[in-house]
Amino acid sequence: MDFDMLGLQPRLVAKLAEQGITAPTPIQTQAIPHAMNGRDVMGLAQTGSGKTAAFGLPMVDALMKAGVRPNPKCANALVLAPTRELAKQIADNLTAYTGGSHLKVALVVGGAGIVGQMKRLEKGVDLLVATPGRLIDLLDRRAVRLNETRFLVLDEADQMLDMGFIHALRRIAPLLPANRQTMLFSATMPKQMAELAEAYLTDAIRVQVNAPGKPVEAISQSVHFVAQAAKFDLLVDLLDAHRDELALVFGRTKHGMEKLSKQLAAKGFAVVAIHGNKSQGQRDRAIADFKAGRVRVLVATDVAARGLDIPDVRHVYNYELPNVPENYVHRIGRTARAGADGAAIAFCAPDEMQDLRDIQKAMKADIPVASGRPWEGEGTDKKRPNGGNGGGRRRFGGGQGGGKPAASAKPAGQRRRSGGGNRARSNGRAA
Ligand code: AMP
Repeated sequence: MDFDMLGLQPRLVAKLAEQGITAPTPIQTQAIPHAMNGRDVMGLAQTGSGKTAAFGLPMVDALMKAGVRPNPKCANALVLAPTRELAKQIADNLTAYTGGSHLKVALVVGGAGIVGQMKRLEKGVDLLVATPGRLIDLLDRRAVRLNETRFLVLDEADQMLDMGFIHALRRIAPLLPANRQTMLFSATMPKQMAELAEAYLTDAIRVQVNAPGKPVEAISQSVHFVAQAAKFDLLVDLLDAHRDELALVFGRTKHGMEKLSKQLAAKGFAVVAIHGNKSQGQRDRAIADFKAGRVRVLVATDVAARGLDIPDVRHVYNYELPNVPENYVHRIGRTARAGADGAAIAFCAPDEMQDLRDIQKAMKADIPVASGRPWEGEGTDKKRPNGGNGGGRRRFGGGQGGGKPAASAKPAGQRRRSGGGNRARSNGRAA
């Protein structure tokens, strides 16, 4: 199977070949022909599956064929992404596909000057990649109109649910023509996603490469049962054992991760942290340094690292388990990209037992134990030493074997665990 068999025009196929992209990935094989036929697409695929090309190529192909210049302040296609980094990555990919054609790609995200972005939009663009907040700003300033936008993509849509972008979407979507083509891509399929698809897609074809919530098979997973206070030394040992390889370390809170990165630096690791308190420039630099191998350990919170395409990460450490099970899948999806092998190593402290159970339940599989034993008696009333600041997670009741997960009608990020316990509750803000 190659790209011209999917119906893409020869010059686009040639452009891809220049970038070493010759054989479509499974999600591309499944999605592209339908998208080229104008169908709405709901794609269940993780970062690393080639999903950007799966939605990007059909749009680029259609816009190349149409050959219509955009009207002033209009965008012919709109891609919404939850984070600035992901939006930039998508814009970079689209720019690579469109190189040498008349098509113009623009990126509008927060953290960068709005005036320059307004200028860029003045003459209109073919493909606009945006984070929802900045797009709304630009709409409010009448710098852009969406009434001629024929393609809408919602990428990493599950993350958008987590981040409350649903409200933004409610404002943005009605501004587009009803007869647009809409594509929604998501790594997981929480119940709310079906509602989102129902609201914004029409007669969508559903494509998927991995079972929902099931990580790619090339990742070897393991869990260490380790007390919070012993996690740091274990991490240092494991990082030491793979000195030459890139490692990504996930935790929950900005402060906790900042502190961890300083502690690792003090141990001589070339390390950098990305989280919500870092400026856009610092985040971009950190990722560029990591990709180039100038730093070897990237410490991150979920939001900061979401959707990043970092090809050579061999080890992903869950220094703290995410309290949203879907985020575990997202985190470990950072490794084993493009068919490479990768390892996902989780650290589970006593008060993370319920998080671990939730993750295993969502994946319908147990994570093999690397050291220690599952904690017993978890669920007693105690505070959790959490990366130094005690914050960053929401704990709601749930004694041992007690509280069932609450019905997931709420966005994953807002889900509460119900149950009879009276655990300490901390309300630190994650990421
Ligand atoms: P994505 O899942 O869209 O973030 O893509 C992950 C990475 O795979 C990106 O670096 C793409 O350039 C690359 N890629 C996408 N499609 C292909 C393909 N068909 N063959 C090889 N690499 C690809």
